[in-house]
Amino acid sequence: MNIHLEIFSPVQPISNPMFDARGVKVFIKRDDLIHPMISGNKWRKLKYVLKKAQHQHKTHLVTFGGAYSNHLLATAAAAAKFGFKSTGIVRGEQVDNNTLFLCRLHGMQLKFTDRDSYRDKPALFKQFLGDDEQAFFIDEGGASAEGALGCSELVDELPEIYDHIFCACGTGTTAAGIINGLNNHQHKTTFNAVPVFKNGGFIKDEIDRFLTHPANYNVYTDYHFGGYGKANHELISFIKNFVADTGILIEPVYTGKMMYALYDLIEKGKFEPGSKILAIHSGGIWGLLGMKDRF
Ligand SMILES: *Cc1c(COP(=O)(O)O)cnc(C)c1O
Repeated sequence: MNIHLEIFSPVQPISNPMFDARGVKVFIKRDDLIHPMISGNKWRKLKYVLKKAQHQHKTHLVTFGGAYSNHLLATAAAAAKFGFKSTGIVRGEQVDNNTLFLCRLHGMQLKFTDRDSYRDKPALFKQFLGDDEQAFFIDEGGASAEGALGCSELVDELPEIYDHIFCACGTGTTAAGIINGLNNHQHKTTFNAVPVFKNGGFIKDEIDRFLTHPANYNVYTDYHFGGYGKANHELISFIKNFVADTGILIEPVYTGKMMYALYDLIEKGKFEPGSKILAIHSGGIWGLLGMKDRF
């Protein structure tokens, strides 16, 4: 089967009186529109991983994630679409939620494991799938050189050169890919990473692991709102206003934090008047369903 998705990810302007006051122009790349389940950066990260699995004649994708992992869901949906079996190894005790329901609906087998064992993913792979010759290991979040390669293609699609690009970071694979893409095109764009974890400084090592050339970029570590999956009233109310103002859904785990950071930095006058800034909508809006009671 040909592993291919027709990409629809337009760049759209976002307007706000505060942007006019600061003299900046803001755009958003709608990777969230790529696919409802294989959403945003998750398709980009999986594309070459799936091709590699296919090349090795593997028919069973095995990957890892937390109970709300967008990557698990994307892998389940991609496996179903492209004719693979799939297994998801989930961190923590057995639970059910919207994400895991959608994973199962796409035919993914779920295996739950305690947090200690979860740390050693190759060992889990061996334990659960050691005698399945068809099984293909995909790291948590799709973190891999193939994942970064897929993400670098985002830059090929850009209609113009921006002064800044902003992106939310989990594993840093998407960030690395975009930085590599900017380098390939010799764009003089400043890349800005917004890690969604506490103490996000470590993301630099994770990003650098997948860079094809050394590069400078900014990391804003102050927008984690207490840690992964955490949110406060300010973030939630920012998201409500953003969605109501723009008609574009964002969520509290990734894109909400990245957008909040961008608005905050613009407001603080961080960017020269005349700057063109592109935010990457990396998808993941199903995450909203897990946090409805916060709104
Ligand atoms: C997974 C995910 C990210 C993180 O991507 P990394 O490549 O792991 O840094 C960002 N945004 C959304 C919406 C995601 O689902």
